[in-house]
Amino acid sequence: EEEKSLNFLEEIVEEDLAAGKYKSILTRFPPEPNGYLHIGHSKSIVLNFGLAQKYGGKTNLRFDDTNPVTEDTEYVESIKEDIRWLGFEWANEFYASDYFEQLYLFAEDLIGKGLAYVDDSSAEDIALMKGTPTEAGTASPYRNRTVEENLQLFRDMRAGKYRDGERVLRAKVDMSAPNMQLRDPIMYRIKHAHHHRTGDAWCIYPMYDFAHGQSDSIEHITHSICTLEFVSHRPLYDWFIEKLEIYPSRQYEFARLNLNYTVMSKRKLLQLVNKGYVTGWDDPRMPTISGLRRRGYTPESIRMFADKIGVQKRENLIDVSLLEFCVREHLNKVALRRMVVFDPLKVVITNYEQEEEWLPSEDNPEDAATGHRKVPFSRELYIENEDFMEHPPKKFFRLSPGQMVRLKSAYVIKCDEVIKDAAGKITELRCSHLPESKSGGAQSNIKVQATIHWVSIPHAITAEVRLYDRLFRVDDPANEEADFSEYINPDSLQVLPAAYAEPALRDAKFNEHYQFLRKGYFYLDKDSSEEKLIFNRTTTLRDTWEK
Ligand code: ATP
Ligand code: MG
Ligand code: MG
Repeated sequence: EEEKSLNFLEEIVEEDLAAGKYKSILTRFPPEPNGYLHIGHSKSIVLNFGLAQKYGGKTNLRFDDTNPVTEDTEYVESIKEDIRWLGFEWANEFYASDYFEQLYLFAEDLIGKGLAYVDDSSAEDIALMKGTPTEAGTASPYRNRTVEENLQLFRDMRAGKYRDGERVLRAKVDMSAPNMQLRDPIMYRIKHAHHHRTGDAWCIYPMYDFAHGQSDSIEHITHSICTLEFVSHRPLYDWFIEKLEIYPSRQYEFARLNLNYTVMSKRKLLQLVNKGYVTGWDDPRMPTISGLRRRGYTPESIRMFADKIGVQKRENLIDVSLLEFCVREHLNKVALRRMVVFDPLKVVITNYEQEEEWLPSEDNPEDAATGHRKVPFSRELYIENEDFMEHPPKKFFRLSPGQMVRLKSAYVIKCDEVIKDAAGKITELRCSHLPESKSGGAQSNIKVQATIHWVSIPHAITAEVRLYDRLFRVDDPANEEADFSEYINPDSLQVLPAAYAEPALRDAKFNEHYQFLRKGYFYLDKDSSEEKLIFNRTTTLRDTWEK
């Protein structure tokens, strides 16, 4: 590992620790359980958990569950599974909803200090009175209610005396602040809705700005790291903490991860699911952690990706090929090599006299510890249709009439005859093999231009293979003129119902990744059964050894 320079957050943490500001740091990862985690979240996860690991601190998992309408326990479970799968463990599992009573008391405290008031104005009027960034806002007619009146009204809000939207609680900050976030932001709204954890106990719910910083403070989070949209919220974050005189957590912002050829907001991902563009949150084309996992991505590859993109202060769009690069790097080291023919052409080895033989082939040349498997060879084989040309152009080095190729881990063969049906379609090749050309034989070093993969027909098993392409046709679908769904790639999934595989794949497992030689990296799909094997292509190979 080369020595990497510190990112700006590491610099801040090191300074804080050196100055003795904290004995140890405490970060948090604060997902809202309103969808599955996506690759963007993994950047935040690696950052928050990574900082704590590096500096001997801890990380809390806090579900930011203050919006009862969109949240669900299904999401809570998936989020926990995904974080653990990425390789991280939290110190505590907390829920913002566990703090509802405390947050309510904080609100009463601010009311008591004359720093919050109940506003009866409609949402439209509140928005109008806010003004614009260049024009001061107008004070609400309810801004100067007495503390007693505000307390009574707020208690009545909690008691359920009012309908949704009838009243809100606002912080009394500054209606002419240049920063719009400070123009008396809403702290509580009325919502008669069932919450996935607190049930019907509450009919008022705190807004993000009055829940997030306070939750950080309750937990004594030292560094509260969020994305750049929250820069303008920071003065408010600090204002609440200062006025409440509670533990001073500090907010820091970094650029969110944007990836090209996909969309990344949970709202949009939910639309893809609900409108049937994909089969679910874990569809292998989705940029969700569960989709990437199902597709065959590894935690190592995602962590490597997060490390490579680093931590920036400016938004940018990361090329998805960097993610693909990372997964290839890792899979090249761990994937077991197997042979699978997608588009078969029959080859008969006319001079092969034995019934069969089982030839050793290395499982992974990158990892000697994996050893060898035996691959069955027989008189009748399939090779890939595209590996043969009857009338080859000059640079075609694979099989053609009179030419030789090596069959991976087996013999060199020569094409002697091309058999066609009545319509002139090639149905079979008659070849001869060089018996001494297999590994260890007298002719094992014979020079041929190409090595191709193959399977023995009587031993082959069939498997469905799912090949994926990008889900969108354009670089940045969320920033196009039309709705993002207009830019979906109609050919993002190609299904091969029956590829022919060597029999070792009958025992394919979810804890193994495979490289189908010359075809890419593949992973068993969860829809597989004893009767029907299904593989997802994780990514293609860089075609290095195909000639
Ligand atoms: P979305 O817009 O996808 O709904 P969100 O920010 O509302 O995302 P949260 O569940 O609130 O989703 O996010 C949890 C944490 O993950 C937050 O701290 C958020 O800043 C961070 N996060 C979300 N998306 C990204 C991203 N694309 N890149 C980096 N961090 C992200
Ligand atoms: Mg959020
Ligand atoms: Mg969101």
